[in-house]
Amino acid sequence: MVNNIIGNKDIRDRLLRLSNSGQLHHCLLFEGPIGVGKHLHALWLAKLINCLAEPHIRSQGPCGSCWSCRMIEKGDHGDIVVVGYDPEKITRVISVKQARTLIANIQVHPARARKRVVVIDPAEAMRIEAANALLKTLEEPPSSTMFVLICDFADQLLPTIRSRVQRIRFRPVPREDLASWIAQNQNTSDSGSIPILSEGAPGFALQMMEDKEEWCTLRDEFLMIIQKGDSAQIKWVASFCSGSKQVWLPSLILLLDIISTLLRDWVVLAFDSPLPLYHEDVRDRLVKFHHNPVLLSKLFVHIEQIRKDLRIHVNGSLLLESFLAKAHRLLFLPMVQRR
Ligand SMILES: [Zn+2]
Repeated sequence: MVNNIIGNKDIRDRLLRLSNSGQLHHCLLFEGPIGVGKHLHALWLAKLINCLAEPHIRSQGPCGSCWSCRMIEKGDHGDIVVVGYDPEKITRVISVKQARTLIANIQVHPARARKRVVVIDPAEAMRIEAANALLKTLEEPPSSTMFVLICDFADQLLPTIRSRVQRIRFRPVPREDLASWIAQNQNTSDSGSIPILSEGAPGFALQMMEDKEEWCTLRDEFLMIIQKGDSAQIKWVASFCSGSKQVWLPSLILLLDIISTLLRDWVVLAFDSPLPLYHEDVRDRLVKFHHNPVLLSKLFVHIEQIRKDLRIHVNGSLLLESFLAKAHRLLFLPMVQRR
């Protein structure tokens, strides 16, 4: 199990200084790439604020072994509240009902924590009503509570939320650091292209190590299905999105990540750039597709739109079908016509 934090040490140093001098803002926004460690840092901060070790120890960082640090690590500390997608909703949102429950709960003094820490992740999943309900609380939370909002891009949040937070930007972890971290944690010196693929995001790298087989299978299926016509695509999508949403939605999100990395590789090829490819192992197959930068940018935009739509709509199969049809039209057909 991997539980050490890598990268962005300057942020931890800054949080430590602010905490030691009692100047931590009551509402922080951690923004940065997916999987870069924002959530882990939020929990690290919760440990730091509530560590029960002697002051000279905790002024250097959370001890990791006191009752509080251990409970937070296990996710069992009642005063450290993580708000994620509403399990009662089919769509991936943080609902107004969750926001109201949270506001009611934080009026009570924390049971054991020095300070209650509420982590909202991903903050961009807050529906407008939920965000509006929380505005006043984010501005003036009870003195015993602080908030950490987590998101990929702060622009996805309402301006009224952005104006109430102190923004902390996370950067990708350098590739060499990531490679040695993977080697250490996975007990392997061969992490292959994963440090490149994961774009400096340790969480993403770990997920890829775990999902390596599914990753390759999905990629190969995608490269195959965009060469087929409508009916084959519809059939493939029907099978991909069959069964429970809890099963196909994570696969769909993984597929979108994979497609993004493929599009990036086609851009690298289009510009004849010396940058390494994410999918170096299938370079021969990638060059056989049409890779015009203007058309690729259209597909990038489409992928981002699907990510947004998935927060609102449930019909993943329609979204996927329309994307595959476009990919067929832009990446495959021009090559056939050229033959
Ligand atoms: Zn501790």
